[in-house]
Amino acid sequence: MQQEELKTLFKENNALLTGHFKLSSGLHSDTYFQSALILQYPKKAEILSQELAKKLKESGIEVDVVVSPAMGGIIIGQEMARVLRVRAIFTERVDGTVLLRRGFSLKENEKVLIVEDVITTGLSTKEVINSLKSSGAKVVAVVSLVDRSAGKVDFGVPRFSLLSIDAKSYKEEECPMCKEGSKAIKPGSRR
Ligand code: ZN
Repeated sequence: MQQEELKTLFKENNALLTGHFKLSSGLHSDTYFQSALILQYPKKAEILSQELAKKLKESGIEVDVVVSPAMGGIIIGQEMARVLRVRAIFTERVDGTVLLRRGFSLKENEKVLIVEDVITTGLSTKEVINSLKSSGAKVVAVVSLVDRSAGKVDFGVPRFSLLSIDAKSYKEEECPMCKEGSKAIKPGSRR
């Protein structure tokens, strides 16, 4: 699938919104991505996972296990694992620390694919990678549906995304949309 085709698919499902938003980080942005709105349809989740799996295959990257961070990464992680026919586990944040719980574990030298829904600053992905270090498993790649950094974040391993967006985000006091008098909305919290 081409970038434009993917963008249309996300937009049709309201997963990709343009406007004036307050992100969970507190920053303001003109773009908002809510993966759950497209991943609620298993068929669409499958198609997106197949697209990501294709990129891994083209690069000859082999995977033993998918690790994704809760909550955002769990659904796409599970679907990726189904397509790749490997197991899927997830990390959780407990008192600020990212770790594997529920009896999940990794073996020495297991090839790990990190699966995220969206990468913005890459900080939380780096925390996930760091949390696995003591296991001796090897992170071989990072994939995400959307890359809001337009490829600027470096994890030291190959990384792939379906949609690369150079999304602008601003501190509230520097937000040009606020300066024009518009008010930022928090789409994730509206129900
Ligand atoms: Zn603003």
